[in-house]
Amino acid sequence: MNEIKNPKVRKPLLFYYVIALLIIMLLNTFLFPSLLRRVEVSVDYSTFMNDLSAGTIQQVEVQDKQIEYLLNDDDKYVYITGNMGDPNLVDRLEESGVIYGKEIPEEMPWFLYFLISFGGPILLFILLGRMLSKNLEKRMGGGSNAMTFGKSNAKVYVEAQTGKTFADVAGEDEAKEALDEIVDFLHNPQKYEAIGAQMPKGALLVGPPGTGKTLLAKAVAGEANVPFFSISGSEFVEMFVGAGAARVRDLFRQAQDKAPCIVFIDEIDTIGKKRDGGGLGGNDEREQTLNQLLTEMDGFDGKKGVVILAATNRPETLDAALLRPGRFDRRIPVELPDLAGREAILRVHAKDKQMADNIDYAAVARATAGASGAELANIVNEAALRAVRNNRTRVEQGDLEESVETVIAGYQRKGAVVSPKEKEIVAYHEIGHALVAALQKHSAPVHKITIIPRTSGALGYTMQVAEEESLLMSKEEAINKITTYTGGRVAEELIFGSITSGASNDIEQATKLARTMITRLGMSDTFGMMALETVNNQYLGADASLACSEQTAAKIDGEVREMIQQCYDKAKEILSANMPKLHELSKYLLEKETITGEEFMEILNRD
Ligand code: ADP
Ligand code: MG
Ligand code: ZN
Repeated sequence: MNEIKNPKVRKPLLFYYVIALLIIMLLNTFLFPSLLRRVEVSVDYSTFMNDLSAGTIQQVEVQDKQIEYLLNDDDKYVYITGNMGDPNLVDRLEESGVIYGKEIPEEMPWFLYFLISFGGPILLFILLGRMLSKNLEKRMGGGSNAMTFGKSNAKVYVEAQTGKTFADVAGEDEAKEALDEIVDFLHNPQKYEAIGAQMPKGALLVGPPGTGKTLLAKAVAGEANVPFFSISGSEFVEMFVGAGAARVRDLFRQAQDKAPCIVFIDEIDTIGKKRDGGGLGGNDEREQTLNQLLTEMDGFDGKKGVVILAATNRPETLDAALLRPGRFDRRIPVELPDLAGREAILRVHAKDKQMADNIDYAAVARATAGASGAELANIVNEAALRAVRNNRTRVEQGDLEESVETVIAGYQRKGAVVSPKEKEIVAYHEIGHALVAALQKHSAPVHKITIIPRTSGALGYTMQVAEEESLLMSKEEAINKITTYTGGRVAEELIFGSITSGASNDIEQATKLARTMITRLGMSDTFGMMALETVNNQYLGADASLACSEQTAAKIDGEVREMIQQCYDKAKEILSANMPKLHELSKYLLEKETITGEEFMEILNRD
């Protein structure tokens, strides 16, 4: 909601009113009277009596509370004394022969009196009321008239403002291809009309967060050169029932006026959730909004050239009615980038930065498997920031590599104090991982080992980078991975005879992988190809629920334990057979703190 868009306009106006009023009042009370009137001098009643008997008084004015008089030949001063209520005063005045009189109490004209005592406050209240209602109206969605709640705040973007084109979106070629057709349609709808083909009314971009869905929608608008109405799903959901629906109506009316154009609804899952039967009133508003959206999508003429794009990372929660043909019938997956895609994204974001000439983008891309476009953009930016911190004018390879690690494990904790004993344990732990990985087939080569602590809490880590990316993971690879995870703990046990908490993350990862193998990948002998878990959320991860009986669940736990134990034993076997290398490499790491994969392999392979 765009609350209180421009409070600046009204406040100063009122402010100036008040200032002007104050100035006028001040002038009235202090300046004007003294300009017009004589100087007042207070005197005693006795002085007045003396002056009166002496006959020096020219004129007397008796007022309720005071007596004012002027002396002969003296126009500059007016003398004032209290009125004592002297009953003989009139006689005395008569005697001395001065001009005297009583002031006529000044009465305000009745209408003026009425205006000031009633009109003023009423005016004030009217003004205040207007201001408040304006404010309230804005909170409820703006609009010019008190009764039209919830006109939409759909921002109108024109092509110059999104400023994005397909060139800004790297990778995602399939998505771009699908959207290209929409762009072409917006350019010349006649071509499609002539053949009788109907363009899809809407396309739904689905994919994990940060993969460039919003960016793609903006790029479509930029490419098509048409107005771009963008609104986020959450903006439809309002406090007042009916306001969201009104916004939808308003948005589509605006869009139809501006056709051809693009309407982009970001995070559509906020309004597009499945409608369920007996919701507790709380869902009313959302359902009304969704119903309105469905109606509008049916209602408008697709030939006019209004294309609706929507984005979500929770497609499974969307209402089926939204997805039926005639509405969002195109579904465009925007997946995490592959190796080539990652390299392209890195290059796109490096374009507007001063990069060294010999940057190996492919190497960075290889080290960032699973990273989204947003994360890659962040990595490039972090690298640029690091270059600035180090007083360089260009971003170098080392900056990029360091920022990859920063994103994975946090910043280096330069000041962290780690005791020599602990450092030794960490060194053996990391070499344990690396040795197990290197001495098995089917595992990714070691890229880097470090025992510099990180802000994430890691005291060291071993980075493995696959030569090439594979889309499938074989059972052997999975088992080898678990074995590698256990390698750290095994090394600690073999060398020091005791174990530490340093393996907590390894344990978590190993358990997760073992459980996935058993419940979802059909990689256990006991259960075979039986799905024991269902994934609730394809894109947001880590959200699965068991789909089996409690007895089976208990069996799964046993199976997971068994699998990890076997891997542990295997790692123990590998390390026990290579104790000299374990010592040699750990000593070397302890001394250097960070070693590369090449150094590691060199020591491992020499005899
Ligand atoms: P989402 O899919 O969550 O809507 P965004 O479109 O908001 O993701 O992407 C966030 C940012 O990540 C973009 O502004 C852009 O800088 C970067 N980004 C994501 N994907 C890509 C891509 N394919 N090419 C270039 N930059 C990308
Ligand atoms: Mg987005
Ligand atoms: Zn470890």
